[in-house]
Amino acid sequence: MLVLSPLCFSVSASGSNDSPIAIVIHGGAGTIKRELMSDEMEDRYREVLAEAIESGYQILKNDGSSTDAVIATITLLEDSPLFNAGHGAVFNHDGNIELDASIMQGGDLNAGAVAAVSRVKNPITLALAVLEHSPHVMLVGEGAEMFAQQQGIGLVPNEYFKTERRRLQLEEILAKEKSASLSKTASNALLAAYRFDEKKLGTVGAVAIDKRGNIAAGTSTGGMTNKRFGRVGDVPVIGAGTYADNNSCGISATGHGEYFIRAAVAHDICARMEYKGISLQQAQDEVVQDKLVKMNGSGGVIGVDKDANVSFSFNSLGMYRASIDKDGVRQVKIFKDD
Ligand code: ASP
Repeated sequence: MLVLSPLCFSVSASGSNDSPIAIVIHGGAGTIKRELMSDEMEDRYREVLAEAIESGYQILKNDGSSTDAVIATITLLEDSPLFNAGHGAVFNHDGNIELDASIMQGGDLNAGAVAAVSRVKNPITLALAVLEHSPHVMLVGEGAEMFAQQQGIGLVPNEYFKTERRRLQLEEILAKEKSASLSKTASNALLAAYRFDEKKLGTVGAVAIDKRGNIAAGTSTGGMTNKRFGRVGDVPVIGAGTYADNNSCGISATGHGEYFIRAAVAHDICARMEYKGISLQQAQDEVVQDKLVKMNGSGGVIGVDKDANVSFSFNSLGMYRASIDKDGVRQVKIFKDD
């Protein structure tokens, strides 16, 4: 959202150029177990996660903004067929791809989001265009694509996003849905088809803090396999899948979006930090390991706080994740016991 009043910039961080930098990313949470993954696949995931986080970190190191670092990192993950974002995103019920993304800046609480776009190669760049060049926070569908064209963001055919792996996942779920509908009521069949499992894995997100102490958070996804009726999850909902505030932290989430919307996950974590004076790790755990678990909401979050501490929390079996902390220590992890 374009912010017109210069007063709005007064909440930006200190302006000094030597605050510690840090970055953390995720590539989705869910049923990720060692025994379900080949060594080759594991290596590929680790490689892309390492490459993506390094690209963001180098931007921060060279005095770039956290926003630029988040955009560069997420763009790279959107372009990889491994993740459920951009190329390689999951199929909806009709066999097409619909993408959601959002970005938020913690200095001025400015945010941009897009939902259900089907022709924008890198939805995260369109979310940034909404933030920088529109008076709005969220644009959806064809209108968002019209705005993309006005902004000089070229469109690609929906085919660009489709991969065989994701087409097979849809077919498998449709077959399960069909057999469930033979034996159960229609609503039970729908619930079975929406069960959150590894078939929907791979939403991507990044949170960074730059040398000025400004935090940015972004998230991008294809949503859930077999989604229909124009379903949109938590990712483009500011406060649910993404939130950033220089007074507390930045958060990007991944998991069963309906629960993350209902629990206002990303905002709740930042608010708990600020109001209760607790650490980022504690705030994340309260929301992910307690509040969400009680609701049966599966997934996880990554975050960076105002002092450049990084942390993760997830209640699923695994989460693709990586971080480079304020001491430059690099971590790439997949499984719970990594
Ligand atoms: N949160 C995403 C959604 O519900 C899915 C995911 O993170 O895997 O659309």
